[in-house]
Amino acid sequence: MLPGAVTPFAAVWFDCDSTLSAIEGVDELLQWAPPSLRAEILQLTEQAMAGTLPLAEVYERRLARLAPRREQLDAIGALYVRRLVPDALAVVQALQSLGKDVGILSGGLLVPVQIVAAHLGILADHVHAVPLHFAADGSYLDFDRSSPLWRNGGKVVVVQQHLQHLRPMAFVGDGITDAETAGHVARFVGFGGVVARPAVRARSEHFVTEASLAAVLPHVLTDAERRQLAADPRFPTLRPFLDARHP
Ligand SMILES: [Mg+2]
Repeated sequence: MLPGAVTPFAAVWFDCDSTLSAIEGVDELLQWAPPSLRAEILQLTEQAMAGTLPLAEVYERRLARLAPRREQLDAIGALYVRRLVPDALAVVQALQSLGKDVGILSGGLLVPVQIVAAHLGILADHVHAVPLHFAADGSYLDFDRSSPLWRNGGKVVVVQQHLQHLRPMAFVGDGITDAETAGHVARFVGFGGVVARPAVRARSEHFVTEASLAAVLPHVLTDAERRQLAADPRFPTLRPFLDARHP
């Protein structure tokens, strides 16, 4: 079966951590944490991503232990930008040039995710992530517990409550909370270019393992859109992924 779409997708949205950017933002907070905390937090993250621990439990424990300061979030945002996956910017621009709505749906922290969104030319109101609350001196108070995105199933809730006007929609991500959207969006594409998780692959009708984000394009474009992008001189780096024989 050819991977391409039959009808064009109106929207293509992305996860952030290990999808648009090669890092896990919360794990990068560890650079300010005492060494004793590091192994514990990394293991918690991996268990959440693999689906062996409930995300909500991991989320609370990680943030309470790390207690990030406001200014640390800006540093994480800059790191997201520095560690963008290959072709992330070109993929976003190419999808936008086709008139598609592009956004980010992330269980990460809102401030750094908005920084990477701004860099990619994604509007701030096209970003859903988890806000944090800080005291006046910049010290951590809590995360926004009213957000659905710190729990398993949270991305499905956001799709159903906020993104229903963007149909048909494709969603691209690497984690188990991303794969949960399969069946709730028109197409879920698993991205294994940073980390290929077997549990996600098992739930993904479409899964790519190339390092470049451009590998998802054949799965979210019609044949006509693919040909249009292949002929567009603005996106030379995408062309190898737009060949009719790819993947
Ligand atoms: Mg992710």
